[in-house]
Amino acid sequence: MKPESHQPVNIVGAGLAGALLAVLLARRGFRVTLYDRRPDPRNSDAESGRSINLALAARGIRALERAGVMDRIRPLLIPMRGRMVHDLSASSSALQPYGQQEHEVIYSVGRAALNRVLIEEAARYDTVTARFDQACLAASPERNALRCRDRIGGVEYEVPLATSIATDGAGSAIRTSLGTAGHLTVREDWLDHDYKELTIPPAQSGRYALEPHALHIWPRGGFMLIALPNTDGSFTATLFLARTGENSFASLTTPEAVADFFLREFADAVPLMPNLVEEFAAHPQGQLGTVHLTPWHVGGSVLLLGDAAHAIVPFHGQGMNAAFEDCLVFDSLLDRHERWEPLFTEFEQSRRPNAAAIAQMALENYLEMRDAVLDAGFVRRKAIAMELERRFPDRFIPRYSMVMFHPEIPYAQAQRRGAVQAQLLEELDSRPDSSGATNFVLAEKLVKERLEPIA
Ligand SMILES: Cc1cc2nc3c(=O)[nH]c(=O)nc-3n(C[C@H](O)[C@H](O)[C@H](O)COP(=O)(O)OP(=O)(O)OC[C@H]3O[C@@H](n4cnc5c(N)ncnc54)[C@H](O)[C@@H]3O)c2cc1C
Repeated sequence: MKPESHQPVNIVGAGLAGALLAVLLARRGFRVTLYDRRPDPRNSDAESGRSINLALAARGIRALERAGVMDRIRPLLIPMRGRMVHDLSASSSALQPYGQQEHEVIYSVGRAALNRVLIEEAARYDTVTARFDQACLAASPERNALRCRDRIGGVEYEVPLATSIATDGAGSAIRTSLGTAGHLTVREDWLDHDYKELTIPPAQSGRYALEPHALHIWPRGGFMLIALPNTDGSFTATLFLARTGENSFASLTTPEAVADFFLREFADAVPLMPNLVEEFAAHPQGQLGTVHLTPWHVGGSVLLLGDAAHAIVPFHGQGMNAAFEDCLVFDSLLDRHERWEPLFTEFEQSRRPNAAAIAQMALENYLEMRDAVLDAGFVRRKAIAMELERRFPDRFIPRYSMVMFHPEIPYAQAQRRGAVQAQLLEELDSRPDSSGATNFVLAEKLVKERLEPIA
């Protein structure tokens, strides 16, 4: 596509996807106006505010590499080699490695720091204009208008809608306005579990209070606590818990109830969280859900991308990675299209099945994280899966690894192969050889019969 033949592209939302997309478009010479309702993060102290972190994996990294920004992002990353599972007795914790190759790790990264680097990189291009404190309220394809409000002066104004890309996140105002006007059909499936972020500060020595190269999990069946490291020596812990019921946010309304609950369920974490009760009262309780949207664009005038099109629950650590992969696919399509509408159509066709697959796998991973990681059968089958990957690396890759470490395998394919593999693992687990060990003769037969080599 020839950038000079186009009006500037509006990107609504300078979050993770919007800022990366701005870099990719600017590299191709497009003029981009980036709007965000937040104040400019470049003007705030990088260390201020709460540290919220995310797991970055191969799909996200591939997109960041395409944009040429990895050199600036690498120093922000902390590798996590596996899950450190903390059991209820608080007496033991065990590392379950994520993969078996040295490079099969995921990375904890601070959301604010990552977003700031991407915005700085976008702003380096003189074809990019970044406009902060600008809330976009609605998109009207009929009138070719994008309505926004300046949050400082309170003034509302309109700019031409065509061509806009809405990356305004899970609660997208653009999606709501287009849905209300009948251009899109939107379904938001809210989970009945919410989340709350808390802090594990550095130990008195200034070092990490827990092993830093792991994602810590306290799985408790119906709920869980997790913690990811930050570069300042702290961890951000997140409690995922039912909204109502016996063990729920609704039951944790007093400092005593919060302290009792944490002492009972996460006894080894409590000494590491000196501000637990105060933070629990002060920090917001977030909602989680999956967004289903049809279609993802209105003609060639507006496309939704990232969470705005397909927000998912966070239990596979893939929402940002999927949003970055969207940007990569979008960028590749620019090589082959001359007009926006066919590009948007092909983008949706290619991404929709993959977004649906990761949405489903993310829901399933909640059960795995909060429950199955402690189950002996799960641990046994995981060990068999690792051995099958060692023996048949071109055919058998554990589903988690396909999603996290193999960006060349689309999510939908990982889901399909994962279902075949799960069935195969069940069979092998229930049909050991005469000594009670895994029957690898049977394993070879089943793997070769049921799993084509990965293309
Ligand atoms: C608790 C939790 C943990 C998560 N952990 C992970 C993880 O480990 N790994 C992972 O890959 N993903 C994770 N995710 C998902 C990840 O946060 C999202 O998928 C990712 O942020 C999507 O990027 P985005 O750019 O689409 O949206 P966002 O990053 O949400 O950006 C949206 C931007 O739009 C702006 N905006 C919103 N409304 C307007 C408006 N009306 N006008 C103008 N601007 C607007 C916002 O200010 C923001 O800057 C997690 C999510 C949650 C909730």
